[in-house]
Amino acid sequence: MNSPTANVCGNGVPRRRFLQSGLAALIAGLGVPVGLRAQDRRGATGQTEAAAGSVRNVVLFIADGVGTAHYALARAYKGAPLVFEAAICGLAATASADSFITDSAAAGTAIATGYRTRNGSVGVDADGRERRTILEAARASGRATGLVVTGSFTTATAAVFAAHTKARGETLQIARQLVEADLTVMLGGGRKLLTQPMAGEGGPTLEQTLRERGYALPKTAAELEATPAGRVFGLFAEDALFPVIDRAKLGPTQPMLPAMTRHALQTLDQNEKGFFVMVEGTQTDWAGHQNDPVMLVHELLEFDAAVAEAMRFAAGRSDTLVIVVSDHACGGLALGNSRAQAASKRGLSQDEVLAPLRAAKASATALWEAYGIAQKPDAETIRRVVAEHWGVQFNEAQVAEVSAAAADPKRDEDYDGLGRVFSRDFTYLDWTTHEHTAEDVPLYATGPGAPRGAMHLTELAGVMARALGVTLE
Ligand SMILES: [Zn+2]
Repeated sequence: MNSPTANVCGNGVPRRRFLQSGLAALIAGLGVPVGLRAQDRRGATGQTEAAAGSVRNVVLFIADGVGTAHYALARAYKGAPLVFEAAICGLAATASADSFITDSAAAGTAIATGYRTRNGSVGVDADGRERRTILEAARASGRATGLVVTGSFTTATAAVFAAHTKARGETLQIARQLVEADLTVMLGGGRKLLTQPMAGEGGPTLEQTLRERGYALPKTAAELEATPAGRVFGLFAEDALFPVIDRAKLGPTQPMLPAMTRHALQTLDQNEKGFFVMVEGTQTDWAGHQNDPVMLVHELLEFDAAVAEAMRFAAGRSDTLVIVVSDHACGGLALGNSRAQAASKRGLSQDEVLAPLRAAKASATALWEAYGIAQKPDAETIRRVVAEHWGVQFNEAQVAEVSAAAADPKRDEDYDGLGRVFSRDFTYLDWTTHEHTAEDVPLYATGPGAPRGAMHLTELAGVMARALGVTLE
């Protein structure tokens, strides 16, 4: 049942749903049948043998915004392979229904429902129709369900599994749907939303509703630790948790992802029929957006430790499928820049590449928000804070570039320039963009029913559904 290579299923993917969504897209005027694009049919997809429904549990990890370069950098920093790298089993293309470069909502919806959709869409297809997610199908089969993130619990990658809306920005709507979703476990941030009303003004709040329904609501790592196995809606920050590299200093009561994953697995395992859980490395993506290699390696090592929890859980049992995939890559990370060109001619050691990252003690976000630049964004402050926390001296031109980025209304975050200048001028790394990129992402899986081959993200929903013996229609 757990044979790694037997019975590659070839056409086992639910093409019928692709056909349906393709037709829907034609009718909607997109012009290209969504599910029938030539590049999706790469002729190499399949799944290791698992009698349908024989898999009790699916643990899905999504490393948001992570491509092969990100993993390679984290492996070098760790000095050892990441725990899931030996389980490499394929590649996934990520394009959405309306964009070569996807966003997390469309990519997450593809993974959760099997449908390509438009960027920004949450749990609905390209036509705006609500589609059943793998989490909802698992719940209907009597299994327990869970979502674990380090951003707000309404973050797109969590929302797509249990909410349905055409716009990922409808945060309150998503929050209400997630409260209604009958999840066994929700862990992450976004506590500020709990004071909002479930329906109209004056009615019960989200928090009151959760309490009425028997949820524990731990607010700190210690409270989570003390929470017995049972329904839990643990939100540990008003908005997102602090980045891993800053958490011990700036948010010492916030739990780490491995602890949240462990709690989720222990709780969900109480259900005799099994469970589905999605655990996201949320801020790996934000590190890419910010071009911050320091934040990135720490986020990825935390993610690695969270996957280790699931691999420990699954070891020695034959009923748990663990999948690790990204929704897309982010930042266009390059392991080599113009400085590396000259250095590699004389021989560039891994230690030289990693030294500036090891010397840095905070994320770009923290330099800006917590360590004083935002309060006084002048040249002297930028220079002082960067020197203090990253151990490098920015010159006048570099400071000017950071200031210009902060003043650029097109940029999302004021601190984007910090990571870009640091990477290009003080490391051997570089970035091509502050946004997502479209390369295939690596796919790792272990356990019965593991996917194999080159595929599109949409195929993973069918892989998980077949393993659990559930239907997405
Ligand atoms: Zn992103």
